[in-house]
Amino acid sequence: MAGPIDYSTITIYPNPDTVEWWEGTRSGKLLVRKCNSCGYMFFPPYPMCARCNSMDLGWHQSAGTGIVHSYCVIVQPVAAAFVSAVPFVIGLVELDDCRSPDGSLIRIPFAMLDDEDEVAIGLPAGVVFEPMAGSDLVMPRWKLKGTSPRTWQFQEG
Ligand SMILES: [Zn+2]
Repeated sequence: MAGPIDYSTITIYPNPDTVEWWEGTRSGKLLVRKCNSCGYMFFPPYPMCARCNSMDLGWHQSAGTGIVHSYCVIVQPVAAAFVSAVPFVIGLVELDDCRSPDGSLIRIPFAMLDDEDEVAIGLPAGVVFEPMAGSDLVMPRWKLKGTSPRTWQFQEG
């Protein structure tokens, strides 16, 4: 299992584009932005639809499950919060229930709870909500959930 992230050293200030998203994670909901004009869904939340330029945006509540599309292993902590966490995996998960009308899928990167030797492209994963010590915010992370007959792992060397 990945080492702990020391959230007490991180300060996050939700902004107008993300405050509802952080309220969602506090309630155990994984939200993605959905354009009310064209239906395009995207993450992270930003103030305008990249497909039709509409600023009429809402939210889609995802079930928080998907398939590991890719991943990388972080070995160098870039902030004090990650000193005890390295090495850890950032998983890019393609959500099962977030497909825009044009067929595009949403892939969301979060730190995974699983170790490098456990993670593989093609494995199913689900969101887990982790309270952030010293804050009232809740951070989503990915956790593997099940197996797949077709997987692929990065190889050293
Ligand atoms: Zn749009």
